[in-house]
Amino acid sequence: MSALVTNKLVKRFGGVLATDHVSLTVEPGELHAIIGPNGAGKSTLIGQLAGEIASDEGRIELFGADVTHVRTHLRAQMGLARTYQVTQLAKEFTALDNVLLAVNARAKHNFRFWGNAHDDVTSMQKATTALATVGMSAMHNATVGTLAHGEQRQLEIAMALATEPKLLLLDEPLAGMSQGESGAIVALLKSLKGRYPMLLVEHDMEAVFALADRVSVLVYGRVIATDTPDRIRENREVRAAYLGDAA
Ligand code: ADP
Ligand code: MG
Repeated sequence: MSALVTNKLVKRFGGVLATDHVSLTVEPGELHAIIGPNGAGKSTLIGQLAGEIASDEGRIELFGADVTHVRTHLRAQMGLARTYQVTQLAKEFTALDNVLLAVNARAKHNFRFWGNAHDDVTSMQKATTALATVGMSAMHNATVGTLAHGEQRQLEIAMALATEPKLLLLDEPLAGMSQGESGAIVALLKSLKGRYPMLLVEHDMEAVFALADRVSVLVYGRVIATDTPDRIRENREVRAAYLGDAA
């Protein structure tokens, strides 16, 4: 069974077809990357998958269940976790508190204030495990606003992992990073590969070709090709439309 299936997914903003009958799958353990120019509809698609943007047409299946009309928090409870293109962190709080917030926001019980969350052994365990996974064990008590941009992005991935997801949606985790910082995230994503199915939206081609099992190319809301990285690199239509090559 696929982790994720979309069938002819459509979102219109006025006259703009932000996503135009998008059909794709993410298989168990697969890292499926989506590339495409600015405005291609990548973030819109992630929003539709997460349930934050209502689709106008089409169907979304999560682990075989139709979730097209299922609300965001229920999709999260089914194991869907996402990160955002622009960081969504509580910058005045510590790294640990941010992760605890993510754990408790997704938990089945009602939201609990983090004052209590520090005493909750299970939440604390999930949070510290996630911080260790992204290599931030030494930064539990760092105020998020003081962390480097790359560390903040790593923290966001920790927040997604702490919810013990079954599928990860990552919207440009390398956005705005220096070379060194993006190397650290690429290594992290590589270490997560196979442990979680991932849909990775990314602008950085090198990273995509290094990480992905399959790549889909989105142009003006349409998937123009889905294939292995090698074959995407060779694809004439892709080169003409996206890689800026007249081949
Ligand atoms: P990408 O993430 O690939 O850069 P987006 O999904 O952000 O692309 O945008 C796809 C298209 O939809 C663009 O033309 C953008 O201007 C438009 N769009 C995105 N969000 C909205 C919105 N909330 N209202 C109106 N138009 C939007
Ligand atoms: Mg985007």
